[in-house]
Amino acid sequence: MASKVDIFDLGRLGLTSGEGRRLDLEVAVDPLEFGGERYAAVPRPVPAIMDVARTTAGYSLRLRYAVRLSGPCTRCLADAGAPVAVDARELDQPGGGEELSSPYLHGDELDLHAWAREALVLALPTQILCRDDCLGLCAVCGEDLNAAEPGHSHEAPPDSRWAKLGDLRLD
Ligand SMILES: [Zn+2]
Ligand SMILES: [Zn+2]
Repeated sequence: MASKVDIFDLGRLGLTSGEGRRLDLEVAVDPLEFGGERYAAVPRPVPAIMDVARTTAGYSLRLRYAVRLSGPCTRCLADAGAPVAVDARELDQPGGGEELSSPYLHGDELDLHAWAREALVLALPTQILCRDDCLGLCAVCGEDLNAAEPGHSHEAPPDSRWAKLGDLRLD
């Protein structure tokens, strides 16, 4: 059964070197800011799968989960509900130097809350859209082009140079 966890004590798994375990968890993923807008990850809490493998002196970890981001579409401002899949890995090998030290692991205590959030930030798309081919808003009238008649357009404003020509009178 899944249990909601913020700090996970890897030590309680009692793994010995070379052993691994797959765990079903629920993590709390905080809302995040992106492009000045606020996005909430749904569902809450988020079901996640964590693979834990004990190495000779440390841990190799993998965290996977999928959410939808509730917040405005970058183009049309409707609720995006954009799907984001997270697949993050951490390796922690005490004595292995900076590169082999996970910022989320302190001894056997894993800060799952912080890891889950940072991993989501890294997995974000460059634009958060309601759908890949969102048409956005009309630059002239602001209408949502996803809902507008196909071929929505406006008469091109008259070019001022031609307007001047129109004023010329050729007597
Ligand atoms: Zn959109
Ligand atoms: Zn328009």
